[in-house]
Amino acid sequence: MDKGLYLYNTLTRKKEVFEPLSSPNVGMYVCGPTVYSDVHLGNCRTFISFDLIFRYLKYSGYKVRYVRNITDAGHLEGDRDEGDDKFAKRAKLEQLEPMEIVQKYTLGFHDVLRMFNTLPPSIEPTATGHITEQIEMIKVIMDNGYAYEVDGTIYFDVEKYSKNYNYTILTNRNLEDMLANTRELGGQDDKRGRLDFALWIKAKPETIMRWPSPWGVGFPGWHIECSAMSAKYLGDEFDIHGGGMDLAATHHTNEIAQSEACSRKQPAKYWMHTNMLTVNGTRMSKSAGNGFLPGELFTGDHPLLERGFSPMTVKFFMLQAHYRSTLDFSNEALDASEKGFRRLMNALSLLGKLSPSTESDFEIGPLVNNCSKAMNDDFNSPVVIAELFEAARIINIIYDGKGKISAIELDKLKKLMNDFVFEIFGLKDEETSNVELNSVLDLVIDIRKAAKENKDYATSDRIRLGLQSMGIQLKDSKDGTTWTKA
Ligand code: AMP
Ligand code: ZN
Repeated sequence: MDKGLYLYNTLTRKKEVFEPLSSPNVGMYVCGPTVYSDVHLGNCRTFISFDLIFRYLKYSGYKVRYVRNITDAGHLEGDRDEGDDKFAKRAKLEQLEPMEIVQKYTLGFHDVLRMFNTLPPSIEPTATGHITEQIEMIKVIMDNGYAYEVDGTIYFDVEKYSKNYNYTILTNRNLEDMLANTRELGGQDDKRGRLDFALWIKAKPETIMRWPSPWGVGFPGWHIECSAMSAKYLGDEFDIHGGGMDLAATHHTNEIAQSEACSRKQPAKYWMHTNMLTVNGTRMSKSAGNGFLPGELFTGDHPLLERGFSPMTVKFFMLQAHYRSTLDFSNEALDASEKGFRRLMNALSLLGKLSPSTESDFEIGPLVNNCSKAMNDDFNSPVVIAELFEAARIINIIYDGKGKISAIELDKLKKLMNDFVFEIFGLKDEETSNVELNSVLDLVIDIRKAAKENKDYATSDRIRLGLQSMGIQLKDSKDGTTWTKA
């Protein structure tokens, strides 16, 4: 695996070389949040993973149209078209309009992702903004014979579809077993088959979010929005479709079925799934009650948290695991990530202060190659981080005067750090990017310098020791004084 970008395709269950349908253009669709409540840290992990993928594709020269939807209608509590509408239920609870709920949690979602320094998608379409497209798609699926109406509700006919297509293509499950198992559950509704799912649901008298359709007043099923919006913005066939692994068995399986039943084409060439954030081995979820809100993590205000951790520490913790591995949350793991992240940021703050020599004790090329190779091997961020720690070690050696680096190698080192830390990982130094803190420290360092020049060593020591007790280390050299966070 030495050339090209390889990614793991859930559809074929292997790593494949990435060959976009019309390079350099890439279409990527990722299932977005259901905005009836705050996103938890598990949700964030999935969006941070796709941000890494988006950033790396752009860095590699692709022109990416990244579509990430907002689910703001049509999501019932049960996965099988039963239960209350999540938005209406929450609206009642908070005594707000359903669209006030949508607005409140959409803004909250954006705020959280901004704190994690993720890039906004190219298009962020909403389900409620695409009711017409969903109705049109359902009409075509019905015309093609893969859906049927029962009293104003439209169901997708899985058994009929399975005669011509592979319903379990994504998960490789045995359809006969699935049909047998679900048959045993008995018919509690109007579906012909228990695997059938709703494309359009007839409104009850109390349903608030409702729209007219050829089949009467109702609302769309959850899955149809993604099929309709991906086709609208990326076409019937596009490059990458992604989401959390928990979506593969139902939501994505049904999306493929709908899209194929409509256009007769497999919608995405590569299906990518991120693994789950867990707490003591259990998947973080709203229903399990172990879903930290990012805000609680930053302040430490949660019974399972010993203290708060900054957004970049949390992001670094996530990048230290491969996106297809599970990642278990713990205070200890975050402690370790915080130390590691600081080490990296401190090295970065020294990078600009290194002076080149005529000779070099270090060659940076192999580090750059290892980082590129790791990212080209299905976005292997933990391997990149190990290489970045090696780069940090080299920076410290040179800064301490225990090694030399040439101008060419120093430029390579700066580019390596800039590309991988900032551009591809989207990390930032929360300490040094704090403009006020920087200005205050510049002032304090100036006052200390004046004190030393006046031989007022009591004041200069008081400043140095005072800052040290706050975790800020001053270092004097012939070029002046610099500071790092301990
Ligand atoms: P939802 O808002 O529930 O539709 O979820 C939004 C996204 O978060 C989906 O792609 C889910 O697969 C993903 N997700 C949910 N729980 C977790 C978790 N514990 N770890 C990682 N991703 C998750
Ligand atoms: Zn979706």
